[in-house]
Amino acid sequence: MIYVIGIGPGSKELMTNEAISALEKSEVIVGYKTYINLVEEFIKDKEVVQNGMRKEIERCQDAIDKAKEGKEVAVISSGDSGIYGMAGLILELVTKQNLDIDVKIVPGVTASIGAAAVLGAPIMHDFCHISLSDLLTPWDVIEKRLKLAAEADFVICLYNPRSKGRKDHLKRAFEIMGEFKSDDIPVGIVKDVARDGQCKQVVKYKDIDFETVDMTTIVIIGNKSTYIHGDKMITPRGYVI
Ligand code: SAH
Repeated sequence: MIYVIGIGPGSKELMTNEAISALEKSEVIVGYKTYINLVEEFIKDKEVVQNGMRKEIERCQDAIDKAKEGKEVAVISSGDSGIYGMAGLILELVTKQNLDIDVKIVPGVTASIGAAAVLGAPIMHDFCHISLSDLLTPWDVIEKRLKLAAEADFVICLYNPRSKGRKDHLKRAFEIMGEFKSDDIPVGIVKDVARDGQCKQVVKYKDIDFETVDMTTIVIIGNKSTYIHGDKMITPRGYVI
């Protein structure tokens, strides 16, 4: 059995009971180093298979090989395992190799949902997730999605907004969306949701300081109705009050 577990954004409070019990049942835990550290208290005497970033295929294949030996294996992703996590890759490998291994996807609180709660209620209406990482997706596809999502007035949650190697992606994304997102649309920025040092900012579109955004940050851009009240970001659902 392979459990593909979303461990939530960071704290134990935001892990589901199902995620905790799947971790407890597992004999082997497979994951990226940073995420293994987040579930340290559940490891005890379990076998741990960890490696660095960009080793996803090897890591998932290791998990499959352990499961073939008859072991109960947990593959962990931060947030939700099916949102830029390991769920898809595990299922792709298991089905391509025609293996008779049970795979159970255990959902988790994804970064956008965790950040939304910190900000107030910014994703009360139709929203989308766009990752600015072009490691697996061509940049022109990302640009097209940014443009059309902004034109359609979705609330837009940006994952992987700005890494050391891709410092200008966020600025470029704001230029593209800026054709449709006006200067005063609220933007919520939350760094390290449910982790040590969590911090948030709510600013107007034109005032974002790209330098404050890094890879453990999520950026949520409001729609035409979104407003700021005090330190809260609110997108009305449409109730007449
Ligand atoms: N599976 C994860 C997403 C992995 S992609 C999930 O469902 O949340 C990695 C990106 O997610 C990061 O670059 C960042 O934009 C966002 N992210 C993940 N955890 C976060 C956290 N605790 N705080 C802020 N952003 C986070």
